[in-house]
Amino acid sequence: MRKVIYKIGRIRIVVLISVIAVLLAVGLNYILQQFQEVTFSYSSFLRAAVIPIIVAPLLSWYLIGLFLRVIELEETMSEWALFDQLTGLLNRRAFLHRAEQEYRSAKRYETTFGVVVLDLDYFKNINDQHGHMAGDAILKDFGDLVLEQIRQSDISGRIGGEEFAFILPNTTLAQSQVFAEKLLQAVADRQVMIDGQTINYTASIGITVSFPENDFKIHNLIHHADQALYKAKSAGRNCYKVAENLL
Ligand code: GH3
Ligand code: MG
Ligand code: MG
Repeated sequence: MRKVIYKIGRIRIVVLISVIAVLLAVGLNYILQQFQEVTFSYSSFLRAAVIPIIVAPLLSWYLIGLFLRVIELEETMSEWALFDQLTGLLNRRAFLHRAEQEYRSAKRYETTFGVVVLDLDYFKNINDQHGHMAGDAILKDFGDLVLEQIRQSDISGRIGGEEFAFILPNTTLAQSQVFAEKLLQAVADRQVMIDGQTINYTASIGITVSFPENDFKIHNLIHHADQALYKAKSAGRNCYKVAENLL
């Protein structure tokens, strides 16, 4: 229905409904005249057409507008249910859902996929030094970076305050490491202007890979990647580490 309305256009639909309303009113008037055996008169047809000519365009214009608004709201609501508003990436729930889908597909087709968890470094300090708004601007900047640079097939989400995760379908450990290196470099190259001040930020990354022969579930994989992330933090941050079980 929505597609039909967008395709035909609101004005054309209003004209169509109005013409149909007028024809119906005039037709009904004709049938009634036949039954009542009243002598045929053009003025009665005009009278029958007057009301639909006035009411049909106004009412249909209003109702179609309302219908389009409801569709718009429905689209906004479903977007809000899936995406984090600040970064534009999938929210935690939607990310985990997509990750589960990838897990099932990888199991079925016996493919390998990378699981990458990233946490922005010293974020509390950024908030303390530059304010919460600056922190938000950096989160948004990171979201932009991800949306600009990451492949369509990769799944990326904000799974915590300043914590993000990625699922890289059909990706080996070596390829996941290249992904992590590139991402770290891209973050380090980023400059965010806030109140005339340039702020740089860095991130730490933990990586694991799901092999068809292993039976780690998504929450296990994220836990392994989280442990690797913790090692990256301990190693001084702005670096990536690989999960212990893959070494
Ligand atoms: P580390 O390098 O160990 O990760 O240090 P950190 O300071 O980043 O980590 P910590 O967990 O101590 O602090 C995370 C901070 O991130 C604290 C919290 O206020 C901030 N944060 C979480 N979500 C948001 C957000 O949506 N906006 C802003 N501005 N800050 C946020
Ligand atoms: Mg942090
Ligand atoms: Mg954190």
